[in-house]
This record gives sequence, structure tokens and C-alpha cells, in this order.
Amino acid sequence: MRKIVIAVDGFSSNGKSTMAKSLAKEIGYIYIDSGAMYRAVTLYCIEHNLFNGDSLDEAQLHNEIENIKVEFHLNKETGTPDTYLNGENVEARIRSMEVSSKVSVVSAIPFVRHAMVALQQEMGKAKGIVMDGRDIGTVVFPDAELKVFVTADAEIRAQRRFDELRSKGDMKTTFEEVLENLKTRDHLDQTRAESPLVKADDAILLDNSYMTIDEQMQWLLEKFKQITTN
Ligand code: C5P
Repeated sequence: MRKIVIAVDGFSSNGKSTMAKSLAKEIGYIYIDSGAMYRAVTLYCIEHNLFNGDSLDEAQLHNEIENIKVEFHLNKETGTPDTYLNGENVEARIRSMEVSSKVSVVSAIPFVRHAMVALQQEMGKAKGIVMDGRDIGTVVFPDAELKVFVTADAEIRAQRRFDELRSKGDMKTTFEEVLENLKTRDHLDQTRAESPLVKADDAILLDNSYMTIDEQMQWLLEKFKQITTN
């Protein structure tokens, strides 16, 4: 069966990562979470004091971008790749609310995007990859054979993210904070000058507000089979 590239884009916390991850496992493809890469760069900025409150020292980040190495290594227990920043596993730390609240600032910077997009394109060269993000079908892999654009109601997305934070032991963050962060990120991601979040013309729209993970998987698998067996 021929190998293809699958691009899954959409708004924050709409379950697209869970979906993309399960699909990759099911069909034996590599899964890459491109958001994790922007989160890792953000974590670097936080830990190297490049943020002063919410404002980022872009000139300093520009000087240091060459020193920021983001990689993925397969976690044998989970069967999915973990994110590494300069050799250190940062998979858990990049999911904090602090990173979530600062990542849209970092991901709007053109030189950061160019560096990440180049890495992502390298990872997809051999095809057989499912990548999720915001600009995968529009900028990273405009020729992807299967493009999905995922959307869901903001409140439903916030509830999912809130439940996830609670299950990971974050008992402090409130539902309102999560909803606010999500709306802010949606807005910043859609309105930034460089590679804004937008549905590719040839992407299939999936509103998963009222779908179970199983239903989404079936839907995706069907699309995958249609493309690869034709
Ligand atoms: O997917 P996730 O919510 O983890 O992504 C975190 C942030 O990274 C997004 O809010 C967005 O600002 C940025 N991002 C991006 N382009 C991508 C993936 C993520 O700008 N391809």
C-alpha cells in the first residue's frame, strides 16, 4: 500500500492530537505533534529568562535559536513519541498552563516558524506520517494526500482540556482560566501575520463536538482507506 502524508489541523484542545495519535498507531505511521515543538521552544524561553512578564526578548531568542534542539524519541511504554529539548525529556513540562499561556507569542515569530517548519518537512520526507498542528495542510505539507481540519465548540474543548489538567494533578487552574486561554490562543493563532490558522481549501472539515473518540477514528480510517486504496 502506498504511503501518504496526513495533515490534521485545527483549533486548540479539540482532541486532534488524540485522534492523530490513535490513527498513526492503527496504520503503523509515525506521529508528530508539531504544537509540542512550539511548546518546547516556549519552555526554553521561560527557563532561560527570555520572558519579562508577557513580553519576550525576541532579539535574544534569535541569537539563541541555533542552540535550541527539539527532537522526538519513541516512548516504549506509551508507544508514542516524547518531546526532547536539548536532550532532556520535556513531554510533561511543555503541557503546563504557563507554557500554554505564552506559546502563541513564540509561535507567531517568523524565524521560529521557519526553523520548526524546516524540521517538520524533514520528518515527513519519507511519508508515512501523521502530523497535527495549525499550518500542516497549508504550509508544511501543502501536497498532503489527506488533510483534515478539526473544530469543536469552545466550551466543549475547554471542558476536555480542564478534565485533562485535573487528571494530571493540576487542581488549581479553573475552568474559566482554561476557556479564556483557549479563546485567546484561537484568536492569536487565527490573526497572526505568519501562517495563521486557516482551513486549507482541500481539507475535509470535521466537527467533533458530539463525537466519541471511536467515532472519530472510524471516520478518519474510512477517509484513509478511500485514499490509499484508490
Ligand atoms: O497543538 P497545541 O495546542 O499544543 O499547540 C500549541 C500552540 O502552538 C498553538 O496555540 C499555536 O500557537 C502553536 N502552533 C502553531 N503551529 C503549529 C502547531 C502549534 O503555531 N503547527
